[in-house]
Amino acid sequence: MIPRRLALTPALLVAGLILSVVIATAAKAPHPQEEDPLTGVRVTLSASWMGRATTSEDKEILVLAGHGDSQGIEGAGTSGAAVDRGGARPMNPHMRDELFWNRRVRDAVVRTGQARGLNIRSYEPDQLTIRNEDDPRTNWSVGRRHHDAGGYALEIHFDAYGNHGVGSGLIPNLRSPATRIDESLALNFGRYPLNFRGGLGAPRRGISILEIGKLEGQLERKLRDPQSRNAVVAALALRIVEAIELGIGEAPATRKLSSPPDADDSVPQATDHRTNVVGG
Ligand SMILES: [Zn+2]
Repeated sequence: MIPRRLALTPALLVAGLILSVVIATAAKAPHPQEEDPLTGVRVTLSASWMGRATTSEDKEILVLAGHGDSQGIEGAGTSGAAVDRGGARPMNPHMRDELFWNRRVRDAVVRTGQARGLNIRSYEPDQLTIRNEDDPRTNWSVGRRHHDAGGYALEIHFDAYGNHGVGSGLIPNLRSPATRIDESLALNFGRYPLNFRGGLGAPRRGISILEIGKLEGQLERKLRDPQSRNAVVAALALRIVEAIELGIGEAPATRKLSSPPDADDSVPQATDHRTNVVGG
């Protein structure tokens, strides 16, 4: 956003002025409501929570595929615009398209995270339909136990198309204070209100929900296109993993005390923190 505006204004003074306005605006509204080129619209509901709880570097991260055990029953997820509006065939006849993509992204996030030294794993219920949501094998039960044992649980989702959905964003777990991982994901993807729809099933059980974007338009087309599918899944996974990395460890203000004098903590750089994670 900023580079394009600068390119349009040749005069350095004007550019500087615009830059400062952009920065001031960004400080007031950290989640701009414009469209992301890949994931589309962000949530535009007003939300004021901030994730401040620290996550230690050895905290285990569990990644779940939303709707992984609720196919064919209420809460099966979205079929996506391509199927519902365009008449396309589902990616897999046994599940809604959202679950197909939730699984793909879940697995890519875990692969990417492990390769970069994160303590991260996935859970797969192995049954597409478990009618009792409190069955010990459901995503929600496994996520709740993981949270209560001191871990961080994240459930991957794609939102419904058109005005059935809201857009990309993070809904933090409600069972304990939101963490800096939640904060980092919210800054990257958007911020849902704490009590969205009265507090959803997963957050009430200690699981944060990431809505990657509405399953429609360019995002869905690029996912469905075999030419771009792997690249898009990889890009989404990298974005999620980098946001998680930025949220792990001590808060920047605390870290400053023990950092070498030349380290710039005021601008959290992905590479800076990655070094930290791998090193620790
Ligand atoms: Zn969903």
